[in-house]
Amino acid sequence: MSIPESILDFLLPASCIVCGGILNPNEKSICLDCLSDLPRTFYSSRSHNPMADRFNSLIQRDSDGYEPYSYATALFHYRPESPYSAITKNLKYKRDFPAGRFFSSLLASEIASSPMFRDVDLVIPVPLHWTRYRARGYNQAAVIAKTIASFLGARIDRRILRRSRRTATQTRLGTEEKALNVRGAFRLVRSGHCQSVLSAARHILLVDDVFTTGATLASCRLALRESFPADRRISVATLGFVG
Ligand SMILES: [Zn+2]
Repeated sequence: MSIPESILDFLLPASCIVCGGILNPNEKSICLDCLSDLPRTFYSSRSHNPMADRFNSLIQRDSDGYEPYSYATALFHYRPESPYSAITKNLKYKRDFPAGRFFSSLLASEIASSPMFRDVDLVIPVPLHWTRYRARGYNQAAVIAKTIASFLGARIDRRILRRSRRTATQTRLGTEEKALNVRGAFRLVRSGHCQSVLSAARHILLVDDVFTTGATLASCRLALRESFPADRRISVATLGFVG
């Protein structure tokens, strides 16, 4: 008989997600030493930053007219070989929701105090394809989005955007290949609910776990634009930023 996880959590002392050291009672998910060394981006305080530049250059390629500059922010600089990559890996593959919510709250408090994101009133997580959702049982981007929405007092919607095509794993693809791989992978759900949510929104924040080329988020943005007026802003936020 296996011991339920909640009992194991109670019996085993909690350890740091980065160094594995045992946490003090006042520490959550990460020890204070590792937290102080977290390679934060602080992009929430810079409207123009490398992530926003990358995202806006993708938009320009897809867009046929003017639209407001997209703001972009991430909690930390993601490197696959760094022990800090456990922050997103453990949320995605190991159901580490307490840590996921803790790091999301660090990002969320940055966002909530930034003038750029103050008027965000709709938060949308990047959806998983339903087959992947069924296999994993949850969408890691929704965990992050929920925390951000609650800090902002904004609405969260997980129904209006669908991943219509299951995309090949992106790890080995180059920038151009990734863009092609996810192009048209998302679609807007045509319903009264969708129309009323989008017509009420002023500023949408799209949320994912990691921003690499930005192609996935750009593809989501393109789908939203079918019903979301071009003069209203769509911004993006993730935990990790590769770059
Ligand atoms: Zn540590």
